[in-house]
Amino acid sequence: MTCDEKKESTSATTSAKPKRMIVVGGGLAGLSAAAALMKAGLVQMGHEVIVLEARRRVGGRAASFEDPLTGGLVDACQHVAMGCCTNFLDLCKQAGVAGSLRRDRTLYFIGHDGIPAACTPSVWLPAPLHLGPLLLGMRHFTFREKTALALGLLRLARYNRKKRGTHVQKDSGIQDETAQTWLEFIGQPERVIRLFWQPVLESALGESIDLVSVVAARKVVVDGFLAHRNASDLYVPTQPLGRLFGEHLVEWLKNCGVTVETGRSVTAIQLDATGRVSAVRCGTEEILCDSLIVALPWKQAARLLPDIVPVGNEHLTGSPITAVHLWFDRDVMNLPHAVLVGRVSQWVFRGDDSQKNVPGYCQVVISASRGLQGDDRDVLLATVISELKAIFPAAREAQLLNARIVTDPTAVLSVRPGVEAVRPAAVTHVPNLFLAGDWTATGWPSTMEGAVRSGRLAAQAAGGSLIVSQQWQTPDLPKNWLVRRIIGTR
Ligand SMILES: Cc1cc2nc3c(=O)[nH]c(=O)nc-3n(C[C@H](O)[C@H](O)[C@H](O)COP(=O)(O)OP(=O)(O)OC[C@H]3O[C@@H](n4cnc5c(N)ncnc54)[C@H](O)[C@@H]3O)c2cc1C
Repeated sequence: MTCDEKKESTSATTSAKPKRMIVVGGGLAGLSAAAALMKAGLVQMGHEVIVLEARRRVGGRAASFEDPLTGGLVDACQHVAMGCCTNFLDLCKQAGVAGSLRRDRTLYFIGHDGIPAACTPSVWLPAPLHLGPLLLGMRHFTFREKTALALGLLRLARYNRKKRGTHVQKDSGIQDETAQTWLEFIGQPERVIRLFWQPVLESALGESIDLVSVVAARKVVVDGFLAHRNASDLYVPTQPLGRLFGEHLVEWLKNCGVTVETGRSVTAIQLDATGRVSAVRCGTEEILCDSLIVALPWKQAARLLPDIVPVGNEHLTGSPITAVHLWFDRDVMNLPHAVLVGRVSQWVFRGDDSQKNVPGYCQVVISASRGLQGDDRDVLLATVISELKAIFPAAREAQLLNARIVTDPTAVLSVRPGVEAVRPAAVTHVPNLFLAGDWTATGWPSTMEGAVRSGRLAAQAAGGSLIVSQQWQTPDLPKNWLVRRIIGTR
């Protein structure tokens, strides 16, 4: 939707004198909050929406760095979305960048024999039966293992934490348990856990299966696989994130009247005598505002708002993700991506034609990489390269021109048992202060979709009193009758 179209559709509004709404943090959560306020027509009604971002570029963790060989942009870590990420995909559509997301319906799993298994869900069968061909395509599993996996998927989708009362962590009182504990409890074969559940859940949730909660795992299985034929489609950016969000998305916002200021670190939040936010401080400068959305990661949010985000809450822990960037002198991969099961390298992505700057750029992603953090960089590099050589014949001949290892120690919120209870909602006890960020209570793991949803929830809370008829969230993919029958509506 363009900004002009929106002007005509802002009829159902309440009259109000112009307000200034500040969003602190220009990651996807902050940008989506600003976009939602703008899309609701608030900017066109004369209200001011300002995004203040500390760094030189917006985009936050979905960011790029300069390619050392060519000076082009390379993503700090490959980001992918799935078909179930309806709010993220909708934001990309609104901003005109959806055309720069490649849709891969086939997932390529590569087992120890090095032969790729092309796993494609059916376009004809209704969900959840559409997954049949995908499971049958997993040639690294025996028929028995595939059957066990299919049953495991269904049992997880029907997981009911209340009925599992005897197996929850009684001592902590937390009604949840880890995915690994539960998968072992239902008797999933060790190979199925290691070669399916581990790579799939760890990459979707960014945390190891012995730590993630089974409730989070269920969300991945239901929303990302079973619920809809398009749910598991992979959306891979074909342009650097720094261009997509740092340039195109921000230009779109500015063209639609949103003010985006970079290099503006907010150092304090001021309350007035009535306990409402009156201003933010950027160093010595004071910027007055009528409402405030704080869209920062939890540590930075806790520094600014210690009364609202408790510092050192043990349930708010980060999980590390490592990206190994490799520049070869030639193309080493004959696939767009691959899931390398049972290896240190978990996913490998081939640089896209419009993104890569030398022919043989590829990136290996390792989620929940805390076990590697103390390791020698050269050892990790040698392991990753030898795994690629074992799989891709072209890598055996190729010359490595450059390599870079980037680890974000708190890449995503670790969605462990009990974490949902401490993720804060958008609304706070301060009437005009709202929270956003991928770690807040969205019901989603810490992802781009979670960030966009959080921004939209905060925008709804902040702008809902000014504009009354607005659909702030994009609906989930619809569940057909068979899905509802088998797994319910949750
Ligand atoms: C290595 C890695 C791999 C990932 N892979 C995927 C993936 O494949 N798919 C997926 O969906 N998600 C992935 N994610 C997660 C995704 O990047 C995040 O969930 C999302 O970008 C979070 O957005 P956010 O706006 O909540 O936070 P952030 O992106 O962290 O944004 C917060 C912003 O606030 C700014 N800021 C901080 N302090 C201040 C201040 N005082 N004043 C003003 N501004 C401030 C920061 O500079 C930053 O720009 C990955 C993350 C990482 C790190």
